[in-house]
Amino acid sequence: MRRSVLAFFFSLSFAAWSSADDYPRNPAIDAIHYRLHLTINDSSEEIQARAEILFEFKSDGVKTIPLDLAGLSVDRITENKRETTFTRTDGKLTIALSGDYRRGERCWLEIEYHGRPSDGLIMGKNKFGDSSVFADNWPNRAHYWFPSIDHPYDKATVEFFVTAPTHWGVIANGKLIEKTNLQNGNELSHWSEAKPIPTYCMVIGATEFSIINVGAAERYGDNVELSYYLFPKDRERGLKDYGRLKQITEFFSDLVGPFPYEKLALVQSSTRYGGMENSSNIFLAQNGFSEDTNAHEVAHQWFGDSVTESDWHHLWLSEGFATYFGHLFFERADGRDRFVTLLSKDKEAYLKDYSSDPRPIYDPGITDLMKLLNKNNYEKGGWVLHMLRHLMGDEAFFAGIRDYYETYRDRNALTDDFRMVMEFHYGQPLDWFFKQWIFEPGYPIYDASWNWNETAKELTLRVTQKQSPTIFRMPLDIAEWHQVAFAPLTNDLPAPRDVGRDDRPAGRGRLHQALREPFPQRQQHGDVMLAMDARHIICGAVPINSWDACPSP
Ligand SMILES: [Zn+2]
Repeated sequence: MRRSVLAFFFSLSFAAWSSADDYPRNPAIDAIHYRLHLTINDSSEEIQARAEILFEFKSDGVKTIPLDLAGLSVDRITENKRETTFTRTDGKLTIALSGDYRRGERCWLEIEYHGRPSDGLIMGKNKFGDSSVFADNWPNRAHYWFPSIDHPYDKATVEFFVTAPTHWGVIANGKLIEKTNLQNGNELSHWSEAKPIPTYCMVIGATEFSIINVGAAERYGDNVELSYYLFPKDRERGLKDYGRLKQITEFFSDLVGPFPYEKLALVQSSTRYGGMENSSNIFLAQNGFSEDTNAHEVAHQWFGDSVTESDWHHLWLSEGFATYFGHLFFERADGRDRFVTLLSKDKEAYLKDYSSDPRPIYDPGITDLMKLLNKNNYEKGGWVLHMLRHLMGDEAFFAGIRDYYETYRDRNALTDDFRMVMEFHYGQPLDWFFKQWIFEPGYPIYDASWNWNETAKELTLRVTQKQSPTIFRMPLDIAEWHQVAFAPLTNDLPAPRDVGRDDRPAGRGRLHQALREPFPQRQQHGDVMLAMDARHIICGAVPINSWDACPSP
Protein backbone atom coordinates (compact mmCIF):
# COMPACT_ATOMS: atom_id res chain seq x y z
CA MET A 1 0.00 0.00 0.00
CA ARG A 2 0.97 3.61 0.00
CA ARG A 3 1.53 4.98 3.46
CA SER A 4 -0.57 7.85 4.55
CA VAL A 5 0.24 10.58 7.04
CA LEU A 6 -3.01 9.57 8.69
CA ALA A 7 -1.67 6.09 9.39
CA PHE A 8 0.13 7.37 12.43
CA PHE A 9 -2.97 8.82 14.02
CA PHE A 10 -4.99 5.72 13.33
CA SER A 11 -2.32 3.49 14.74
CA LEU A 12 -2.73 5.22 18.06
CA SER A 13 -6.38 4.37 18.22
CA PHE A 14 -6.04 0.68 17.37
CA ALA A 15 -3.86 -1.16 19.82
CA ALA A 16 -4.57 -4.64 18.55
CA TRP A 17 -1.57 -5.28 16.24
CA SER A 18 0.02 -8.65 16.60
CA SER A 19 3.33 -8.27 18.33
CA ALA A 20 5.84 -9.91 15.95
CA ASP A 21 5.78 -12.28 13.09
CA ASP A 22 5.55 -15.05 15.58
CA TYR A 23 2.21 -16.00 14.07
CA PRO A 24 1.53 -19.61 15.08
CA ARG A 25 1.58 -21.29 11.68
CA ASN A 26 -0.34 -24.55 11.50
CA PRO A 27 1.29 -26.91 9.00
CA ALA A 28 -1.46 -29.50 9.53
CA ILE A 29 -4.19 -27.46 7.81
CA ASP A 30 -4.51 -25.32 4.72
CA ALA A 31 -7.37 -22.90 4.13
CA ILE A 32 -8.43 -23.43 0.51
CA HIS A 33 -11.55 -21.32 0.05
CA TYR A 34 -13.61 -18.75 1.95
CA ARG A 35 -17.28 -18.27 1.09
CA LEU A 36 -18.43 -15.25 3.05
CA HIS A 37 -22.09 -14.27 3.34
CA LEU A 38 -22.66 -10.83 4.84
CA THR A 39 -25.68 -8.66 5.42
CA ILE A 40 -24.87 -4.97 5.87
CA ASN A 41 -27.04 -1.89 6.01
CA ASP A 42 -26.87 1.86 6.31
CA SER A 43 -28.76 2.17 9.58
CA SER A 44 -26.70 0.02 11.91
CA GLU A 45 -23.12 -1.17 12.27
CA GLU A 46 -24.20 -4.73 13.05
CA ILE A 47 -23.47 -7.40 10.51
CA GLN A 48 -25.15 -10.77 10.15
CA ALA A 49 -22.72 -13.22 8.66
CA ARG A 50 -21.94 -16.78 7.74
CA ALA A 51 -18.50 -18.01 6.76
CA GLU A 52 -18.08 -21.30 4.94
CA ILE A 53 -14.44 -22.29 4.87
CA LEU A 54 -12.92 -25.24 3.04
CA PHE A 55 -9.82 -26.77 4.65
CA GLU A 56 -7.42 -29.39 3.43
CA PHE A 57 -5.56 -31.52 5.94
CA LYS A 58 -1.81 -31.84 5.58
CA SER A 59 -1.49 -34.42 8.39
CA ASP A 60 -3.55 -37.36 9.60
CA GLY A 61 -5.86 -37.12 12.59
CA VAL A 62 -6.27 -33.36 13.00
CA LYS A 63 -8.74 -32.78 15.83
CA THR A 64 -9.03 -28.99 16.08
CA ILE A 65 -8.86 -26.01 13.77
CA PRO A 66 -7.80 -22.74 15.38
CA LEU A 67 -8.96 -19.64 13.53
CA ASP A 68 -8.50 -15.94 14.14
CA LEU A 69 -11.66 -14.07 15.10
CA ALA A 70 -11.84 -11.01 17.32
CA GLY A 71 -15.05 -9.74 18.94
CA LEU A 72 -18.35 -10.70 17.24
CA SER A 73 -20.70 -13.36 18.59
CA VAL A 74 -20.54 -16.87 17.20
CA ASP A 75 -24.00 -18.43 16.99
CA ARG A 76 -23.39 -21.85 15.50
CA ILE A 77 -20.68 -23.90 13.81
CA THR A 78 -21.02 -26.97 11.66
CA GLU A 79 -18.41 -29.40 10.30
CA ASN A 80 -19.57 -30.85 6.99
CA LYS A 81 -23.11 -29.80 8.01
CA ARG A 82 -22.92 -31.51 11.44
CA GLU A 83 -23.03 -29.18 14.42
CA THR A 84 -19.81 -29.03 16.38
CA THR A 85 -18.35 -27.31 19.42
CA PHE A 86 -15.87 -24.51 19.77
CA THR A 87 -13.98 -22.46 22.31
CA ARG A 88 -12.93 -18.82 22.20
CA THR A 89 -9.89 -17.22 23.76
CA ASP A 90 -8.05 -14.04 23.04
CA GLY A 91 -8.73 -13.48 19.35
CA LYS A 92 -8.89 -17.20 18.57
CA LEU A 93 -11.83 -19.41 17.70
CA THR A 94 -10.89 -23.06 18.12
CA ILE A 95 -13.21 -25.56 16.49
CA ALA A 96 -13.37 -29.19 17.58
CA LEU A 97 -13.53 -31.73 14.75
CA SER A 98 -15.40 -35.01 15.05
CA GLY A 99 -14.32 -36.44 11.70
CA ASP A 100 -11.34 -38.75 11.37
CA TYR A 101 -9.42 -37.07 8.59
CA ARG A 102 -6.41 -38.33 6.67
CA ARG A 103 -3.83 -36.22 4.96
CA GLY A 104 -5.19 -34.81 1.70
CA GLU A 105 -8.85 -34.93 2.80
CA ARG A 106 -10.97 -31.83 3.03
CA CYS A 107 -13.76 -30.50 5.23
CA TRP A 108 -16.14 -27.56 5.22
CA LEU A 109 -16.68 -25.54 8.34
CA GLU A 110 -19.62 -23.18 8.50
CA ILE A 111 -19.61 -20.43 11.11
CA GLU A 112 -22.67 -18.29 11.76
CA TYR A 113 -21.87 -15.09 13.61
CA HIS A 114 -23.01 -11.52 14.10
CA GLY A 115 -22.08 -8.27 15.77
CA ARG A 116 -20.38 -4.94 15.24
CA PRO A 117 -16.81 -5.31 13.95
CA SER A 118 -14.44 -3.20 16.05
CA ASP A 119 -11.98 -2.95 13.15
CA GLY A 120 -11.33 -4.25 9.63
CA LEU A 121 -14.78 -3.50 8.23
CA ILE A 122 -15.08 0.25 8.53
CA MET A 123 -18.60 1.65 8.60
CA GLY A 124 -19.34 5.31 8.68
CA LYS A 125 -19.77 8.39 6.54
CA ASN A 126 -17.55 9.34 3.66
CA LYS A 127 -16.31 12.89 3.13
CA PHE A 128 -19.65 13.85 1.59
CA GLY A 129 -21.57 12.53 4.61
CA ASP A 130 -22.85 9.46 2.75
CA SER A 131 -22.93 6.11 4.52
CA SER A 132 -20.34 3.62 3.41
CA VAL A 133 -18.79 0.29 4.34
CA PHE A 134 -15.21 -0.47 3.34
CA ALA A 135 -12.93 -3.29 4.41
CA ASP A 136 -9.41 -2.23 5.31
CA ASN A 137 -7.53 -5.33 6.43
CA TRP A 138 -3.81 -4.71 6.29
CA PRO A 139 -1.90 -6.15 8.02
CA ASN A 140 -4.01 -8.56 10.10
CA ARG A 141 -7.40 -6.96 10.58
CA ALA A 142 -9.51 -9.31 8.46
CA HIS A 143 -10.30 -11.40 11.54
CA TYR A 144 -12.19 -8.48 13.05
CA TRP A 145 -14.94 -9.21 10.54
CA PHE A 146 -14.51 -12.78 9.35
CA PRO A 147 -12.97 -15.93 10.87
CA SER A 148 -9.79 -16.79 9.03
CA ILE A 149 -6.16 -17.75 9.15
CA ASP A 150 -5.31 -14.09 9.17
CA HIS A 151 -1.73 -14.24 7.97
CA PRO A 152 -0.38 -13.99 4.41
CA TYR A 153 1.33 -17.40 4.57
CA ASP A 154 -2.02 -19.15 4.01
CA LYS A 155 -3.58 -17.74 0.85
CA ALA A 156 -6.99 -18.86 -0.39
CA THR A 157 -9.65 -18.15 -2.95
CA VAL A 158 -12.68 -16.18 -1.79
CA GLU A 159 -16.30 -15.50 -2.66
CA PHE A 160 -18.45 -12.77 -1.18
CA PHE A 161 -22.26 -12.85 -1.04
CA VAL A 162 -23.20 -9.39 0.17
CA THR A 163 -26.74 -8.33 0.95
CA ALA A 164 -26.90 -4.55 1.02
CA PRO A 165 -29.45 -1.77 0.43
CA THR A 166 -30.41 -1.51 -3.25
CA HIS A 167 -29.19 2.10 -3.49
CA TRP A 168 -25.64 0.94 -2.71
CA GLY A 169 -23.22 -0.53 -5.15
CA VAL A 170 -21.09 -3.39 -3.85
CA ILE A 171 -17.63 -4.32 -5.03
CA ALA A 172 -15.40 -7.20 -3.95
CA ASN A 173 -12.51 -9.28 -5.27
CA GLY A 174 -12.73 -11.10 -8.56
CA LYS A 175 -15.59 -11.44 -10.95
CA LEU A 176 -19.20 -10.35 -10.50
CA ILE A 177 -21.28 -13.53 -10.68
CA GLU A 178 -24.71 -12.34 -9.65
CA LYS A 179 -26.71 -9.26 -8.76
CA THR A 180 -30.29 -9.90 -7.62
CA ASN A 181 -32.87 -7.45 -6.36
CA LEU A 182 -34.30 -9.24 -3.33
CA GLN A 183 -37.45 -7.06 -3.54
CA ASN A 184 -37.21 -6.18 0.14
CA GLY A 185 -35.11 -3.07 -0.24
CA ASN A 186 -31.92 -5.12 -0.54
CA GLU A 187 -29.77 -6.44 -3.32
CA LEU A 188 -27.56 -9.54 -3.27
CA SER A 189 -24.15 -9.21 -4.93
CA HIS A 190 -21.99 -12.27 -5.49
CA TRP A 191 -18.30 -11.76 -6.34
CA SER A 192 -15.82 -14.59 -6.82
CA GLU A 193 -12.02 -14.53 -6.81
CA ALA A 194 -10.62 -17.72 -8.35
CA LYS A 195 -6.96 -17.05 -7.53
CA PRO A 196 -5.61 -17.54 -4.00
CA ILE A 197 -4.94 -14.20 -2.29
CA PRO A 198 -3.83 -13.15 1.20
CA THR A 199 -6.57 -12.36 3.73
CA TYR A 200 -5.35 -8.76 3.94
CA CYS A 201 -6.53 -8.36 0.33
CA MET A 202 -10.01 -9.94 0.81
CA VAL A 203 -12.34 -6.96 0.81
CA ILE A 204 -15.74 -5.55 0.10
CA GLY A 205 -16.79 -1.95 -0.45
CA ALA A 206 -20.35 -0.67 -0.41
CA THR A 207 -21.79 2.79 -0.80
CA GLU A 208 -23.50 4.91 -3.45
CA PHE A 209 -21.04 4.65 -6.32
CA SER A 210 -20.65 6.07 -9.74
CA ILE A 211 -19.43 2.94 -11.57
CA ILE A 212 -17.57 3.74 -14.76
CA ASN A 213 -16.22 1.28 -17.27
CA VAL A 214 -13.00 2.83 -18.53
CA GLY A 215 -12.08 0.26 -21.15
CA ALA A 216 -9.89 -2.78 -21.17
CA ALA A 217 -6.20 -3.51 -20.87
CA GLU A 218 -4.74 -6.04 -23.26
CA ARG A 219 -3.26 -9.19 -21.78
CA TYR A 220 -1.88 -11.75 -24.21
CA GLY A 221 -4.98 -12.29 -26.29
CA ASP A 222 -7.27 -11.59 -23.37
CA ASN A 223 -8.67 -8.38 -21.92
CA VAL A 224 -8.85 -7.04 -18.39
CA GLU A 225 -11.90 -4.87 -17.81
CA LEU A 226 -10.95 -1.63 -16.09
CA SER A 227 -13.35 0.46 -14.04
CA TYR A 228 -13.61 3.26 -11.52
CA TYR A 229 -15.86 3.17 -8.48
CA LEU A 230 -16.20 6.78 -7.45
CA PHE A 231 -18.31 8.68 -4.98
CA PRO A 232 -20.90 10.25 -7.33
CA LYS A 233 -19.92 13.76 -6.25
CA ASP A 234 -16.29 13.04 -7.25
CA ARG A 235 -17.12 11.52 -10.62
CA GLU A 236 -15.64 14.33 -12.70
CA ARG A 237 -12.49 14.54 -10.63
CA GLY A 238 -11.86 10.80 -10.75
CA LEU A 239 -12.39 10.65 -14.49
CA LYS A 240 -9.84 13.39 -14.89
CA ASP A 241 -7.28 12.46 -12.21
CA TYR A 242 -7.12 8.68 -11.91
CA GLY A 243 -4.49 8.66 -14.64
CA ARG A 244 -3.19 6.20 -17.18
CA LEU A 245 -4.65 2.99 -15.71
CA LYS A 246 -4.75 1.16 -19.05
CA GLN A 247 -1.14 2.01 -19.91
CA ILE A 248 0.08 1.12 -16.43
CA THR A 249 -1.70 -2.25 -16.46
CA GLU A 250 -0.48 -3.11 -19.95
CA PHE A 251 3.07 -2.05 -19.10
CA PHE A 252 3.32 -4.48 -16.18
CA SER A 253 1.55 -7.25 -18.13
CA ASP A 254 4.22 -6.94 -20.83
CA LEU A 255 7.13 -6.54 -18.45
CA VAL A 256 6.32 -9.11 -15.76
CA GLY A 257 3.56 -11.45 -16.91
CA PRO A 258 -0.18 -11.36 -17.64
CA PHE A 259 -2.29 -9.35 -15.17
CA PRO A 260 -3.19 -11.89 -12.44
CA TYR A 261 -6.89 -11.26 -11.79
CA GLU A 262 -10.33 -11.15 -13.40
CA LYS A 263 -10.77 -7.37 -13.51
CA LEU A 264 -9.18 -4.22 -12.17
CA ALA A 265 -11.10 -1.45 -10.43
CA LEU A 266 -9.87 1.72 -8.79
CA VAL A 267 -12.20 2.28 -5.85
CA GLN A 268 -12.54 5.55 -4.00
CA SER A 269 -12.81 4.34 -0.43
CA SER A 270 -12.06 5.21 3.15
CA THR A 271 -8.86 3.20 3.61
CA ARG A 272 -6.56 4.63 6.25
CA TYR A 273 -3.68 4.25 3.78
CA GLY A 274 -2.98 6.40 0.75
CA GLY A 275 -3.93 3.36 -1.30
CA MET A 276 -4.41 -0.33 -0.60
CA GLU A 277 -3.60 -2.95 -3.22
CA ASN A 278 -6.56 -5.29 -2.60
CA SER A 279 -6.45 -7.88 -5.38
CA SER A 280 -8.39 -6.78 -8.47
CA ASN A 281 -9.90 -3.77 -6.69
CA ILE A 282 -7.48 -1.17 -5.42
CA PHE A 283 -8.92 0.90 -2.60
CA LEU A 284 -7.73 4.49 -2.77
CA ALA A 285 -8.00 7.10 -0.04
CA GLN A 286 -11.05 9.26 -0.56
CA ASN A 287 -8.87 12.26 -1.37
CA GLY A 288 -6.21 10.17 -3.12
CA PHE A 289 -5.96 11.24 -6.73
CA SER A 290 -2.37 10.38 -7.56
CA GLU A 291 -1.06 8.50 -10.56
CA ASP A 292 2.11 7.66 -8.58
CA THR A 293 0.00 5.86 -5.99
CA ASN A 294 -2.03 4.11 -8.67
CA ALA A 295 1.09 2.81 -10.44
CA HIS A 296 2.41 1.54 -7.09
CA GLU A 297 -0.87 -0.25 -6.25
CA VAL A 298 -1.21 -1.74 -9.73
CA ALA A 299 2.36 -3.10 -9.46
CA HIS A 300 1.30 -4.76 -6.19
CA GLN A 301 -1.18 -6.92 -8.10
CA TRP A 302 1.86 -8.91 -9.25
CA PHE A 303 4.10 -8.31 -6.23
CA GLY A 304 2.36 -8.61 -2.88
CA ASP A 305 -0.98 -9.95 -4.08
CA SER A 306 0.03 -12.68 -6.51
CA VAL A 307 3.54 -13.33 -5.17
CA THR A 308 3.12 -12.79 -1.43
CA GLU A 309 5.75 -12.69 1.30
CA SER A 310 5.16 -15.58 3.69
CA ASP A 311 6.75 -13.75 6.59
CA TRP A 312 6.05 -10.13 7.51
CA HIS A 313 9.74 -9.38 7.83
CA HIS A 314 10.18 -9.94 4.10
CA LEU A 315 7.73 -7.16 3.31
CA TRP A 316 10.22 -5.53 0.93
CA LEU A 317 9.22 -8.26 -1.57
CA SER A 318 5.90 -6.47 -1.67
CA GLU A 319 6.58 -2.80 -0.88
CA GLY A 320 10.07 -2.49 -2.39
CA PHE A 321 8.84 -4.13 -5.60
CA ALA A 322 5.72 -1.96 -5.83
CA THR A 323 7.85 1.13 -5.23
CA TYR A 324 10.40 0.26 -7.93
CA PHE A 325 7.98 -1.11 -10.50
CA GLY A 326 5.76 1.93 -10.00
CA HIS A 327 8.79 4.05 -10.92
CA LEU A 328 9.59 1.82 -13.90
CA PHE A 329 6.27 2.79 -15.45
CA PHE A 330 7.30 6.43 -15.37
CA GLU A 331 10.74 5.57 -16.78
CA ARG A 332 9.02 4.00 -19.76
CA ALA A 333 6.16 6.47 -20.12
CA ASP A 334 7.76 9.78 -19.21
CA GLY A 335 11.47 9.24 -19.63
CA ARG A 336 14.61 8.75 -17.61
CA ASP A 337 14.53 12.16 -15.92
CA ARG A 338 11.24 11.50 -14.18
CA PHE A 339 12.52 8.08 -13.11
CA VAL A 340 15.74 9.51 -11.71
CA THR A 341 13.80 12.20 -9.87
CA LEU A 342 11.61 9.57 -8.21
CA LEU A 343 14.63 7.43 -7.29
CA SER A 344 16.56 10.41 -5.97
CA LYS A 345 13.67 11.42 -3.72
CA ASP A 346 13.52 7.87 -2.38
CA LYS A 347 17.25 7.79 -1.72
CA GLU A 348 17.18 11.12 0.04
CA ALA A 349 14.28 9.99 2.22
CA TYR A 350 16.00 6.72 3.09
CA LEU A 351 19.39 8.27 3.90
CA LYS A 352 17.75 10.89 6.10
CA ASP A 353 15.68 8.31 7.93
CA TYR A 354 18.60 5.92 8.40
CA SER A 355 20.57 8.33 10.54
CA SER A 356 17.82 8.30 13.15
CA ASP A 357 16.98 4.60 12.88
CA PRO A 358 19.90 2.52 11.61
CA ARG A 359 18.33 -0.86 10.89
CA PRO A 360 18.47 -3.36 8.04
CA ILE A 361 15.57 -4.07 5.68
CA TYR A 362 15.12 -7.53 7.18
CA ASP A 363 14.49 -6.55 10.76
CA PRO A 364 12.91 -9.26 12.93
CA GLY A 365 13.27 -6.88 15.87
CA ILE A 366 10.19 -5.05 14.62
CA THR A 367 7.24 -6.31 16.62
CA ASP A 368 4.63 -3.71 15.67
CA LEU A 369 3.64 -4.60 12.10
CA MET A 370 2.75 -0.98 11.34
CA LYS A 371 6.42 -0.13 11.86
CA LEU A 372 7.22 -2.27 8.82
CA LEU A 373 5.79 0.55 6.73
CA ASN A 374 9.20 2.18 6.80
CA LYS A 375 11.79 3.65 4.47
CA ASN A 376 13.71 0.36 4.44
CA ASN A 377 10.87 -1.74 3.03
CA TYR A 378 9.72 0.92 0.56
CA GLU A 379 12.47 3.28 -0.57
CA LYS A 380 15.55 1.16 0.11
CA GLY A 381 13.74 -1.99 -1.06
CA GLY A 382 13.08 -0.27 -4.39
CA TRP A 383 16.72 0.76 -4.60
CA VAL A 384 17.88 -2.79 -3.98
CA LEU A 385 16.07 -3.81 -7.16
CA HIS A 386 17.54 -0.85 -9.01
CA MET A 387 21.07 -1.84 -7.97
CA LEU A 388 20.45 -5.48 -8.79
CA ARG A 389 19.25 -4.47 -12.25
CA HIS A 390 22.46 -2.55 -12.79
CA LEU A 391 24.59 -5.42 -11.53
CA MET A 392 22.88 -8.05 -13.68
CA GLY A 393 22.12 -5.94 -16.71
CA ASP A 394 18.60 -5.27 -18.01
CA GLU A 395 18.26 -8.48 -19.98
CA ALA A 396 19.17 -10.90 -17.19
CA PHE A 397 17.39 -8.83 -14.54
CA PHE A 398 14.03 -8.70 -16.30
CA ALA A 399 14.28 -12.33 -17.41
CA GLY A 400 14.85 -13.15 -13.73
CA ILE A 401 11.87 -11.02 -12.66
CA ARG A 402 9.59 -12.78 -15.17
CA ASP A 403 10.85 -16.16 -14.02
CA TYR A 404 10.41 -15.26 -10.33
CA TYR A 405 6.85 -14.12 -11.00
CA GLU A 406 5.99 -17.16 -13.07
CA THR A 407 7.46 -19.49 -10.44
CA TYR A 408 5.79 -17.93 -7.40
CA ARG A 409 2.55 -16.48 -8.80
CA ASP A 410 -0.48 -17.25 -6.60
CA ARG A 411 1.97 -18.50 -3.98
CA ASN A 412 4.34 -17.25 -1.30
CA ALA A 413 8.01 -16.35 -1.39
CA LEU A 414 10.89 -15.28 0.82
CA THR A 415 14.00 -13.28 -0.04
CA ASP A 416 16.02 -16.45 -0.63
CA ASP A 417 13.49 -17.67 -3.20
CA PHE A 418 13.95 -14.45 -5.12
CA ARG A 419 17.74 -14.62 -4.74
CA MET A 420 17.94 -18.12 -6.16
CA VAL A 421 15.92 -17.27 -9.27
CA MET A 422 18.05 -14.19 -9.88
CA GLU A 423 21.29 -16.17 -9.38
CA PHE A 424 20.14 -18.60 -12.05
CA HIS A 425 19.78 -15.75 -14.52
CA TYR A 426 22.93 -13.97 -13.41
CA GLY A 427 24.99 -17.15 -13.51
CA GLN A 428 26.86 -16.21 -10.33
CA PRO A 429 26.17 -16.22 -6.60
CA LEU A 430 24.30 -13.22 -5.22
CA ASP A 431 24.30 -14.12 -1.53
CA TRP A 432 26.81 -11.32 -0.86
CA PHE A 433 24.51 -8.81 -2.56
CA PHE A 434 21.42 -9.71 -0.55
CA LYS A 435 23.42 -10.06 2.65
CA GLN A 436 24.81 -6.53 2.46
CA TRP A 437 21.68 -4.82 1.19
CA ILE A 438 18.83 -6.74 2.87
CA PHE A 439 20.19 -8.39 5.97
CA GLU A 440 22.75 -5.83 7.06
CA PRO A 441 22.05 -2.19 7.83
CA GLY A 442 23.39 0.88 6.17
CA TYR A 443 24.75 2.09 2.90
CA PRO A 444 28.15 2.97 1.46
CA ILE A 445 29.57 6.42 2.10
CA TYR A 446 32.13 6.98 -0.60
CA ASP A 447 35.02 9.32 -0.60
CA ALA A 448 37.55 9.77 -3.33
CA SER A 449 40.84 11.42 -4.06
CA TRP A 450 43.00 11.57 -7.14
CA ASN A 451 46.44 12.52 -8.27
CA TRP A 452 47.93 13.26 -11.62
CA ASN A 453 51.23 11.94 -12.92
CA GLU A 454 52.33 14.53 -15.47
CA THR A 455 55.14 12.39 -16.87
CA ALA A 456 52.97 9.36 -17.45
CA LYS A 457 49.90 11.49 -18.22
CA GLU A 458 48.11 9.21 -15.88
CA LEU A 459 45.35 9.89 -13.36
CA THR A 460 45.00 7.74 -10.26
CA LEU A 461 41.67 7.77 -8.54
CA ARG A 462 41.30 6.25 -5.10
CA VAL A 463 37.83 5.52 -3.83
CA THR A 464 37.24 4.69 -0.19
CA GLN A 465 34.24 3.83 1.91
CA LYS A 466 33.97 5.62 5.22
CA GLN A 467 31.10 3.84 6.95
CA SER A 468 31.30 0.89 9.28
CA PRO A 469 30.89 -1.95 9.88
CA THR A 470 29.70 -3.20 6.47
CA ILE A 471 31.95 -2.47 3.52
CA PHE A 472 29.84 -2.68 0.41
CA ARG A 473 30.82 -4.56 -2.67
CA MET A 474 29.33 -2.80 -5.66
CA PRO A 475 30.56 -1.89 -9.11
CA LEU A 476 30.89 1.85 -9.14
CA ASP A 477 30.56 3.78 -12.35
CA ILE A 478 33.20 6.34 -13.14
CA ALA A 479 32.14 8.36 -16.12
CA GLU A 480 34.53 10.49 -18.07
CA TRP A 481 33.09 13.70 -19.28
CA HIS A 482 34.70 15.87 -21.90
CA GLN A 483 34.19 19.55 -22.22
CA VAL A 484 31.47 19.53 -24.81
CA ALA A 485 29.59 16.29 -24.60
CA PHE A 486 29.35 13.07 -22.70
CA ALA A 487 31.89 10.62 -24.02
CA PRO A 488 30.45 7.13 -24.32
CA LEU A 489 33.06 5.93 -21.90
CA THR A 490 31.77 4.35 -18.77
CA ASN A 491 34.36 2.48 -16.86
CA ASP A 492 32.86 -0.17 -14.71
CA LEU A 493 35.67 -0.87 -12.37
CA PRO A 494 36.93 -4.40 -12.08
CA ALA A 495 35.25 -6.55 -9.47
CA PRO A 496 36.38 -5.27 -6.11
CA ARG A 497 38.45 -7.33 -3.82
CA ASP A 498 36.78 -8.76 -0.75
CA VAL A 499 36.94 -5.61 1.29
CA GLY A 500 34.42 -7.00 3.74
CA ARG A 501 37.33 -8.63 5.52
CA ASP A 502 39.46 -5.51 5.65
CA ASP A 503 40.94 -5.53 9.13
CA ARG A 504 42.16 -1.99 9.38
CA PRO A 505 40.44 0.00 12.12
CA ALA A 506 37.08 1.39 11.14
CA GLY A 507 36.87 5.07 10.51
CA ARG A 508 40.27 5.50 8.87
CA GLY A 509 38.86 5.11 5.43
CA ARG A 510 39.31 1.94 3.49
CA LEU A 511 40.40 1.47 -0.04
CA HIS A 512 37.44 0.33 -2.03
CA GLN A 513 38.66 0.54 -5.57
CA ALA A 514 41.40 2.28 -7.46
CA LEU A 515 41.40 3.30 -11.06
CA ARG A 516 44.41 4.24 -13.15
CA GLU A 517 43.58 5.76 -16.47
CA PRO A 518 45.77 7.42 -19.05
CA PHE A 519 44.31 10.68 -20.23
CA PRO A 520 46.54 11.83 -23.06
CA GLN A 521 43.97 14.40 -24.12
CA ARG A 522 44.22 16.18 -20.79
CA GLN A 523 45.43 19.66 -21.53
CA GLN A 524 43.81 22.37 -19.51
CA HIS A 525 41.23 23.17 -16.92
CA GLY A 526 37.82 21.77 -17.79
CA ASP A 527 38.99 19.41 -20.50
CA VAL A 528 38.23 16.22 -18.70
CA MET A 529 35.81 15.75 -15.88
CA LEU A 530 35.29 12.55 -13.99
CA ALA A 531 31.94 11.77 -12.39
CA MET A 532 31.17 9.09 -9.86
CA ASP A 533 27.82 7.30 -10.08
CA ALA A 534 26.66 9.62 -12.84
CA ARG A 535 23.96 7.12 -13.82
CA HIS A 536 22.38 7.06 -10.32
CA ILE A 537 23.00 3.44 -9.50
CA ILE A 538 24.20 3.41 -5.91
CA CYS A 539 22.02 3.75 -2.85
CA GLY A 540 24.64 5.52 -0.82
CA ALA A 541 26.33 8.82 -0.21
CA VAL A 542 28.58 10.07 -2.95
CA PRO A 543 29.77 13.36 -1.47
CA ILE A 544 32.15 14.22 -4.27
CA ASN A 545 30.75 13.24 -7.59
CA SER A 546 32.81 15.06 -10.10
CA TRP A 547 36.43 16.02 -10.51
CA ASP A 548 38.19 18.21 -12.91
CA ALA A 549 41.13 16.15 -14.03
CA CYS A 550 43.03 19.37 -14.66
CA PRO A 551 42.16 21.95 -12.06
CA SER A 552 43.34 25.48 -12.41
CA PRO A 553 46.87 25.92 -11.19
ZN1 LIG B 1 2.54 -0.60 -1.27
